[in-house]
Amino acid sequence: MPSSRPTDSSFLPGPILLLGAPGVGKGTQAQLLMAKFAIPQISTGDILRFNIAQGTALGNAAKSLIDAGHLVDDDIVQRMVGDRLTGHEDVMDGFLLDGFPRTLGQADWLDHHLGQLRSSALGTSFEGRGITLPVVVIHIVVSYDVLLRRITGRRTCQACKRIYNIYSNPPKIADRCDLDGSQLVQRPDDTEAVFAERMNAFNEKTSKVIDYYHKEGRFEAVDGDQPVEQVTAAIMRALKSLRQSVQVA
Ligand code: ADP
Ligand code: AMP
Repeated sequence: MPSSRPTDSSFLPGPILLLGAPGVGKGTQAQLLMAKFAIPQISTGDILRFNIAQGTALGNAAKSLIDAGHLVDDDIVQRMVGDRLTGHEDVMDGFLLDGFPRTLGQADWLDHHLGQLRSSALGTSFEGRGITLPVVVIHIVVSYDVLLRRITGRRTCQACKRIYNIYSNPPKIADRCDLDGSQLVQRPDDTEAVFAERMNAFNEKTSKVIDYYHKEGRFEAVDGDQPVEQVTAAIMRALKSLRQSVQVA
């Protein structure tokens, strides 16, 4: 949970969506932006993997779908996001949604749910806080071949969830996290075959979500095929310009 406010006090982040194909860099950028803005990252993929690791009913229901590269049902992920956004004060200045919404149904649900949160903030100490701003959307774009290399090279720290890549961002000691020395693991769905299925889901369903936000004008595309820190800088510029142009929900 964030412990301090962002150093740039003129910028109120509000709700931010990071969209893009699998492996495009959403999680990497969310981890960096979370620290810059002191707002939480909410990753539906991470919440699902946590449930699988804990052996919950939700995790058991989702596991075979995730392993096959298919999307989990809307009502399951919506419930997860709803639970995370409700009654948690750390989301009041904003939050980074990473990997949600992935279908038009989820996008509709999010509009509705954020509308309800905005209404319930009226007349309370949360009025005027970031949670009441409209959603802004960053679409990170990378070509298919680069994505495949990123997916097959991805390794994640079991303990702190820091993301590495054996090609572009290897750990100092093979298979060990630089921060806490824990084992790095490869996700079971990060194979070439499952990646192809995940790209099908992205092209069939999530691309429509991207079109939806694009038409609404609360959207900027960012080139993700640059060094990590340059992608972060491009996202920061895009967010500042979006927050100036998109003020009222
Ligand atoms: P996503 O959350 O979109 O699936 P990740 O953030 O997990 O993607 O990144 C996928 C892989 O690509 C990881 O191994 C990560 O280290 C690597 N990666 C992310 N951004 C970049 C970048 N700008 N340049 C090179 N590799 C990157
Ligand atoms: P990610 O960590 O974002 O790559 O997500 C891993 C997997 O979790 C996806 O391939 C889906 O099976 C599932 N998943 C994550 N987020 C969603 C979502 N918003 N809607 C449906 N399925 C999801």
